[in-house]
Amino acid sequence: MAEIRFHPGGLAIESRGVRVTLGDTQVLRGVDLHVPRGKIVALIGPNGSGKTTLLRCLLGLQKPDAGEIRLFGEHIGPKVLKRVGYVPQRLPLDRSFILSVREFLALRLPGTAGWFWQSHRRTDALLRDALEGLDLEGILGRPLSGLSGGQLQRVLIASSLLTKPELLLLDEPTAGVDRPGEQSFYELITEVHRRHKLTVVLVSHDLSMVYRHASRVYALNGVICCEGTPEEVMSADSLKQAYGIHVTPYHHDHGPGHHHVH
Ligand code: ADP
Repeated sequence: MAEIRFHPGGLAIESRGVRVTLGDTQVLRGVDLHVPRGKIVALIGPNGSGKTTLLRCLLGLQKPDAGEIRLFGEHIGPKVLKRVGYVPQRLPLDRSFILSVREFLALRLPGTAGWFWQSHRRTDALLRDALEGLDLEGILGRPLSGLSGGQLQRVLIASSLLTKPELLLLDEPTAGVDRPGEQSFYELITEVHRRHKLTVVLVSHDLSMVYRHASRVYALNGVICCEGTPEEVMSADSLKQAYGIHVTPYHHDHGPGHHHVH
């Protein structure tokens, strides 16, 4: 196979020809992705387009059948994965889950075995950086299982920041969050991006969110079928390619710039 050439310079993610077959389905059919450092970008695609599979590849959980991925110019492995944070779509919790927010976050602090012997003040000092701007200080003592969707989402973001990642991957970030919650969520991400100087990848099937919040959009459907600014990708032709069927972005009455696929 010809050697794949990479340009590590300014890229947070670079993939070439990534292929993954699951069962009988070729889910990824040659994904070429170039995500510059330091931006908020969106990876969009309809259900079944391979978003989760690609995320799993980026997190080192799924090995591609062919092709290569580099993060910050390095092959995927434990070393570079330390620089990556992941915010899951949801945390399945039942009411019997007894940890408080503080305890949950403290468990995720790197190198703090035995944290439970120390005072809250000391734990909170270690959490401070990750908590900043997330408005969680007032609920650190609350049980995780009693939080609202939005609060839990903020805890998951704080949790992903504890290892000081340079790349943050957010899977369907606003699933289970209501519309006003969605708006403040994106304001929050913008703030986290600014404060921690991260590359942020928002993974979503929801096109409405990319308009205002991503500087670049990648549309996936087994391959990256179009990429560009939100305006370029949201043009009906590109979307048709991405989503396969008739797609008409149109304006709802809940504000300009809000687009949906129906
Ligand atoms: P998305 O996250 O965009 O919805 P996925 O990456 O989850 O897409 O899945 C893409 C396709 O791969 C879907 O058609 C799904 O049915 C299929 N798929 C996912 N996991 C498996 C598996 N373990 N075995 C067979 N097919 C799978």
